[in-house]
Amino acid sequence: MRSHYCGDLRKEHVGEEITLNGWVHRRRDHGGVIFLDVRDREGLTQVVFDPDREESFALADSVRNEFVIEVRGLVRDRPEGTVNPDMPTGEIEVLGKELVILNKAETPPFQLDEHQQVGEDVRLRHRYIDLRRPEMQDKLRFRSKVTNAIRNYLDDNGFLDIETPILNRATPEGARDYLVPSRTHEGSFFALPQSPQLFKQLLMVAGFDRYYQIAKCFRDEDLRADRQPEFTQIDIETSFMDEEAIMGMTENMIRELFQNMLDIDLGDFPRMPYAEAMQRYGSDKPDLRFPMELVDVADLMAEIEFKVFAGPAKDPKGRVAALKVPGGAQLTRKIIDEYTKFVGIYGAKGLAWIKVNELEKGAEGLQSPIVKFLGEDVAMKIMERLEVQNGDIVFFGADKEKVVSEALGALRIKVGEDMNMAQCEWAPLWVVDFPMFEETDKGGVTALHHPFTAPSCSPEELKANPLTALSRAYDMVLNGCELGGGSVRIHDQAMQKTVFDVLGISDEEAEEKFGFLLNALQFGAPPHGGLAFGLDRLIMLMTGTESIREVIAFPKTQSASCMMTEAPGEVSAAQLRELNIKLRKTP
Ligand code: ASP
Repeated sequence: MRSHYCGDLRKEHVGEEITLNGWVHRRRDHGGVIFLDVRDREGLTQVVFDPDREESFALADSVRNEFVIEVRGLVRDRPEGTVNPDMPTGEIEVLGKELVILNKAETPPFQLDEHQQVGEDVRLRHRYIDLRRPEMQDKLRFRSKVTNAIRNYLDDNGFLDIETPILNRATPEGARDYLVPSRTHEGSFFALPQSPQLFKQLLMVAGFDRYYQIAKCFRDEDLRADRQPEFTQIDIETSFMDEEAIMGMTENMIRELFQNMLDIDLGDFPRMPYAEAMQRYGSDKPDLRFPMELVDVADLMAEIEFKVFAGPAKDPKGRVAALKVPGGAQLTRKIIDEYTKFVGIYGAKGLAWIKVNELEKGAEGLQSPIVKFLGEDVAMKIMERLEVQNGDIVFFGADKEKVVSEALGALRIKVGEDMNMAQCEWAPLWVVDFPMFEETDKGGVTALHHPFTAPSCSPEELKANPLTALSRAYDMVLNGCELGGGSVRIHDQAMQKTVFDVLGISDEEAEEKFGFLLNALQFGAPPHGGLAFGLDRLIMLMTGTESIREVIAFPKTQSASCMMTEAPGEVSAAQLRELNIKLRKTP
């Protein structure tokens, strides 16, 4: 059994007889002396074997990388000139006396410091080796510390950790469910929880007052770079607290977390209404590190001949907006072409631009393929509104409102990053005053958050003007990432029915799907609300990691499979028969 971790040894241990357990990180033969760097989760220590201890020397000579060993030896100062200031244990070494090989290892599929040369698929297939890398160990250790700090904060504030079921009826968070066939109920399926939403509300009806859970959630979506089919939420629900109190308490939690873990003061989080965020930043999760803003110019374009602009300018569902990039006139044609392709991802059909070369010359000082279509007068009015200076570039978006906001919103961040325009390292905020509903492409309405979110108006007003009604929802945003979101909930049955009505959910369907909730609301449901934070994304931000897979021990790939276990996999005919499932042959 070890007496110390490798990485913990320091000068103060010199003279002590110690025992280490760990892996051979590297073996070096220095002309008659063998050096083993022994690694465990705390770090590396150099162990030296002299030929005068024949048996252990021979063993040390025989070990290979990643063998598991036990070493007994004496901690001593490194000889002068061999101290390594880059290593925490670089002042000492261990004179190896006894060596036991606890297990051998095949040559690993990649050396730990060669992970970059192998593809991510190799790393994921041999994740247990990849996870031996100090960077991965650090990230998962950090994650453990964060969850611990969160548990402590919530526990100190009277929250109870209560588990909710994994085998459920579907919860409507808007994504596709993962389904599990029931053996005992032929033809019926469980759904894995997209979130513990309804259960946490029922825990409030049950009087627990403050609940939290570090909960696994499952959503069968087409994966983007920062999504996983199963992910972890810090799920929170409270009774008798309004949005101010809930936001205050959770803002404090995140502030304390950054302060204690990273020594970063996030300060007070500003609030911004959803409509303002969309208008100024083209996003409901604006990245406020970058100062640039979208400016509406539809009023200046409505009367021009040029249909590309005039059309959306006159369309009540259209938007024409401009984004001024200070110093952007230096952008090359090639880069502008790249940006044009980039906004195409969001549905923009092109990217018009004006470079401001010599403003004092009027329209002649503007370089642009579109000025001739706008006319001098309009072009100069736009320049005036945007308060441009020589050396700036202005990009334009003209299309449906959604396309313009999303395309210019994303371009704003891309250009900001490319041109290093961030004005601070951390920019948190709350986005509030979300609409209750949004129109779907098919002309129906859907809940912007989820259908249990309380509106900030009466049921009558909601029914009369569903598309302008606001909700009592809030999102916490950090550096353009949605860290968490939640709402005050409906605790009144009549209001809940109204919302289902607006959503076109019939009484029968509501009864069938959420009858238990509607019932519970009749039996003394307290006013309640909560939110959920995405733990994986929080850890990503806190550790400055690019990919969500780097902060999850065993992540799934972009195609929602596990490279190591090869899940999902086929099952036997017998298992299918037991479940009464017959597979349809794909043609
Ligand atoms: N259940 C919500 C979600 O997963 C969070 C909440 O409203 O508390 O996004």
